[in-house]
Amino acid sequence: VSEWSGGKIKVTHSRTGKLAKNSRYPRSNKTRVVTTILAEPFAMIRSSAAFDGTPVLGNERFEGFCVDLTRLVADRVGFNYIIKPVGDGKYGDDSVNKTWNGMIGELYRHEADIAVAPLTITSKREKVVDFSKPYMEVGLSIMFLKPTKPVEEVFGFMKPLSKEIWMCIAFAYLSVSVVLFVVSRLSPYEWRAKPDSERLTNDFSIFNSLWFSLSAFMQQGGDISPRSLSGRIVGSVWWFFTLIIVSSYTANLAAFLTVERMATPIQSYEDLARQTKIKYGVVNAGASKDFFKESKIQDFRRMWQFMESHPEVFVNSVSDGVERVRKSNHEYAFLLESTMNEYYNHQNCDTMKVGGNLDSGKGYGIATPTGSDLRESINVVVLVLKEKNDIHTLYKKWWEERWKNSCPEDRSDDNKVWGRRPTQSS
Ligand code: ASP
Repeated sequence: VSEWSGGKIKVTHSRTGKLAKNSRYPRSNKTRVVTTILAEPFAMIRSSAAFDGTPVLGNERFEGFCVDLTRLVADRVGFNYIIKPVGDGKYGDDSVNKTWNGMIGELYRHEADIAVAPLTITSKREKVVDFSKPYMEVGLSIMFLKPTKPVEEVFGFMKPLSKEIWMCIAFAYLSVSVVLFVVSRLSPYEWRAKPDSERLTNDFSIFNSLWFSLSAFMQQGGDISPRSLSGRIVGSVWWFFTLIIVSSYTANLAAFLTVERMATPIQSYEDLARQTKIKYGVVNAGASKDFFKESKIQDFRRMWQFMESHPEVFVNSVSDGVERVRKSNHEYAFLLESTMNEYYNHQNCDTMKVGGNLDSGKGYGIATPTGSDLRESINVVVLVLKEKNDIHTLYKKWWEERWKNSCPEDRSDDNKVWGRRPTQSS
């Protein structure tokens, strides 16, 4: 039972009696070790320390959502704490010799008293540590590079035909005009008497021959036309040639304009599972890896088999995964939790969340070693903070306000295509 006293929660006894029996820590003024993981925006090295040069000590070295959350929880529960980032930089799994590593390992070995981090509540972990009620809902999602917009080129209209073809066309145009000029000179049928004059004239001067070929190429009717058989043969061969060239140019131009519209090769996890060209991976030693490892769903099993046979797809931290996506040239997709996916997409305008979440109903919880005296009070405080909207305010501070307007070129229709929430665009 918890009760309020002077703004703090006092735990007198637990509902189950477990606390009184199992408690390793009688309530005292002892400083608790809070383990966390340096993952943006949950916990980061305070950036101001790097700028003004003043050394910052203790908990002041860190900032982030979990740092603020720890402060709120500690103030309400009433304990002193020191934040200590997890030694091995891992969330925690038992894949190596069934020994827990990461933050779960530290709690299990009682090297830390509380873990305030983006730590997913899973049944496997719940067996070795205690979790509070979830303070944030989360789902597994895909991060991929946005399709790059093609650069608009001045001479883009020339793209449907290759440079060689354009040169051949220019050469054919000049040669046909010259041939037409020559045959018109030679053929007597092109010569006619001028009215009121003894002199014979010929319409096909070199200039008019060039003009005739050009108008034929542009599919325009010219004002002159050959009358000699030889001239007509040259003219009709040229007409036929231009017919074929113009038809294939028009057909290709339509195709090129369609390609200009941005398209992404993957729209969902099913697309990822069905191909192997685009590689994909998760963070090592975490809940996401376990999710694939233990899934019975066919697509997820297939994805796990792919990842297992390509161990290079695993990354050590979420930020490494994000960097890998950014440098991958559309050849690597990263599977990470939606909270971090959204955060990085705000920050790096070149990545996006593809499709919906792969799962639902998961959450991050504050973990304590089994039987910790803090468990009940932390649980109540998390619920209070949620009810009072304090956690939502923190979310807004670290997700929305921090990177507001950082991607000014985002257009509203992009949000539809990439499935981003409307509140994320600005
Ligand atoms: N939040 C996850 C965990 O607790 C990290 C991940 O695997 O994506 O392990």
